[in-house]
Amino acid sequence: MANKYYPTIGLEIHAELKTNTKMFCACKNDPDEEKPNLNICPVCMAHPGALPVINKKAVENVIKVGLALGGEIADFSEFDRKNYFYPDIPKGYQISQYKFPIVSGGHLADFDITRVHLEEDTANNKHDRGDFSLIDFNRAGVPLMELVTEPHSFDNAEDTAKGAVKFAKEFQLVLWYLNVSEANMEKGEMRVEANVSISTDPKKLGTKVEVKNLNSFRSAERAIKYEIDRMIELMEEGKGSEIVQETRGWDEAKQKTFSQRKKEGSADYRYFPDPDLPKLKLHEAFDLEKMKKELPELPEAKREKYRKSGIKEEDVEVIINNKDWSDWLERVKEILKSEERLKLALNFIITDFGGLIKKHGKIKLPNEKSFSELVIMFSERQISSRAAKDILEMIVMKDESPMKIATEKNLLQSSDEGALKEIAQRIIDANPKVAADYKGGKENALMSLVGQIMKETKGSANPSLAKDILINMLK
Ligand code: ADP
Ligand code: MG
Ligand code: ZN
Repeated sequence: MANKYYPTIGLEIHAELKTNTKMFCACKNDPDEEKPNLNICPVCMAHPGALPVINKKAVENVIKVGLALGGEIADFSEFDRKNYFYPDIPKGYQISQYKFPIVSGGHLADFDITRVHLEEDTANNKHDRGDFSLIDFNRAGVPLMELVTEPHSFDNAEDTAKGAVKFAKEFQLVLWYLNVSEANMEKGEMRVEANVSISTDPKKLGTKVEVKNLNSFRSAERAIKYEIDRMIELMEEGKGSEIVQETRGWDEAKQKTFSQRKKEGSADYRYFPDPDLPKLKLHEAFDLEKMKKELPELPEAKREKYRKSGIKEEDVEVIINNKDWSDWLERVKEILKSEERLKLALNFIITDFGGLIKKHGKIKLPNEKSFSELVIMFSERQISSRAAKDILEMIVMKDESPMKIATEKNLLQSSDEGALKEIAQRIIDANPKVAADYKGGKENALMSLVGQIMKETKGSANPSLAKDILINMLK
């Protein structure tokens, strides 16, 4: 390739907030409501004279996100009207924020954050019923947060696509850990838009294209890579002028981006402060210091902690990416009270849960008390690892005390030294050749004797204790 191209990307991510009610009215915020136009009222349907009231919880959620990202929480903030005409926007404008967003600045993964603001979601248009369209207003007025990143340059198309997805995934985790949004991309609760450009001069930004319709991390990664490759190809063919500022969609079936519309400027929206809503004095209305102190532990901090306790990198990611597991693990940790036992617990989670999920489909996590009891029994060698695996499966299927199961099923290992010594002596006497081999330096011979003890005790002996006893007797 003749030239070096510097791809640049900036992300705009929308996330529906998890609140009881909508952004400016008392309608239920229920993304799972299947009956259309049930959660609506004069405010979100824009009937004349209806007045909006700000949902404080939604503002609080955005502040939490801002604090978590290390952004600055504005003292003064306000809502603006973003005017445009479309059937999914009953008022003829969307209430959003323009000059005074709640959050400015911050950082996550590779990206600096420009702002995080609050707005309302639009209705859902359904064009799939024939030659007419239907509109469901349940979603109209649901609190919607928008995060905008600064442009960031990567080395090549692939790194750009991966870097963007890494950011989006990390942001989703932050939303989960803060418990402010379900942020499911497939359900449209989190929507990623990617602005991409390429340039031959690292100090200058090229013309950007905005890519939409990214309904999964996978399509986001493919679409970004595709779009940058497309731009580079045009440049290489001397058709750089064909790269124009526009909105492009991602066609999942064709695995291609396509032109949707040439971009309108922000002037078209005629933003102005919404006169129906009060201004926000956030530093007065919220105790920001207290909110900051009360933030839950965030994914990156948790990662660091798990890494420090010696857990393998890929295992750390498995746990971090599953909020239910990591919350549950925190409770298990409280009970186990030791790093050593925690490692055993993680080992069960990572190796055995995977197998159980394969076997039974989705499993529920066992009661943390029962699970911890099992880990402790295993760490004290009261049960074998085979028995531990079996009992784990039982308590995943139905909560019961592992000790009770082990007793009933005769799975407790004998740690009665006196009894084991007698058996060991008998085994040695019956196998003089094997004993002599071991004494003569054949280490393997010992395991054969341990095996015989296990057989003799029908597996109830604690194998490592049996081994210790044999070593002592054969000195
Ligand atoms: P617009 O007014 O078109 O929405 P903004 O300046 O608000 O543009 O930026 C929107 C997003 O596009 C931001 O995430 C920003 O980082 C990104 N962006 C801006 N310029 C470029 C560029 N030349 N290349 C890639 N991304 C860009
Ligand atoms: Mg924009
Ligand atoms: Zn309403």
